[in-house]
Amino acid sequence: MASAVAVKEEPAEILDLEIRIIELCQEQPDGITDAIIMKDLPLCSPQQRVTCINRLLSTGKIDLLRSGNKLIYKLKDPDAASQAKGGDHQEKVVYQIIKEANNKGIWIRDIRYKSNLLLTQVNKILKNLESKKLIKAVKSVAASKKKVYMLYDLEPAQSVTGGAWYSDQDFESEFVEVLNQQCFKFLEQKAAIARDTKTDPMAQRNASFTPLYDIWKFISELGISKVQLTKEDIETILNTLIFDGKLECTTVASAGGSGDSGRSKLYRAINPLVETTGLMRMPCGSCPVFDKCYEGGAVSPTTCIYMKEWLDS
Ligand code: SF4
Repeated sequence: MASAVAVKEEPAEILDLEIRIIELCQEQPDGITDAIIMKDLPLCSPQQRVTCINRLLSTGKIDLLRSGNKLIYKLKDPDAASQAKGGDHQEKVVYQIIKEANNKGIWIRDIRYKSNLLLTQVNKILKNLESKKLIKAVKSVAASKKKVYMLYDLEPAQSVTGGAWYSDQDFESEFVEVLNQQCFKFLEQKAAIARDTKTDPMAQRNASFTPLYDIWKFISELGISKVQLTKEDIETILNTLIFDGKLECTTVASAGGSGDSGRSKLYRAINPLVETTGLMRMPCGSCPVFDKCYEGGAVSPTTCIYMKEWLDS
């Protein structure tokens, strides 16, 4: 849930440096020394130089040879290298497109559209960049079969992972239900304690209100969540309880409040004044596909699982 985004700027520079080293090798087919690279790239740090050389050696683009008492770098195959140079440019374009997408990532279709490359080329480049650990593929909760690509060191945005309520792109309905129950139980206990004070009804009502911070602290200390839940996560759960008619919320002025500065949200458990009628609880009332529901259609009352659940309840 952390929104901190840490990007290493190094990879784009490394790709630039690699291209330049290959160009130097092409200009001097007999090979180049470290001294030539240092002279041509004075701003390149020793560590960057070593990284580039190692990558060029490991990807088979250059050879390391001994000439007298000097080590020289030579292109393995000039033709292959010129192809590689073109490939590097394409790789860099794809890398930049992915970098611009930041931690929201980008789909392969959009990479193709923006880079004007063929699908096979994009696939090859993505595999290459993934093997170099410059980028990674992340499954998006927005579409289970689609992956988005982002820089390797980025933490995916909540819109991609789904946040605390998703695990491996699956909605954790049981976890949400447990949180729901625990929050409600905690607030019911608070209300019971307030009733036991036997003060006047107004004082009891006020005493049963609990700040968001206390509810968040209680849930955090229960240790039922594998991920660190934020106050906003708990607020989402409390909102669902409000919609279910089980809680009410009020906002009071306070220093260092949970919401907007100077305001704090308080919650209390309530008993609904009027029980909802059977017709109100019927799923069709809030069904998003109500207009498309008819016998023989893609959705119908006969095949609807929500209708079945309602009839069975
Ligand atoms: S029967 Fe099911 S699908 Fe049809 S409107 Fe009702 S809830 Fe929606």
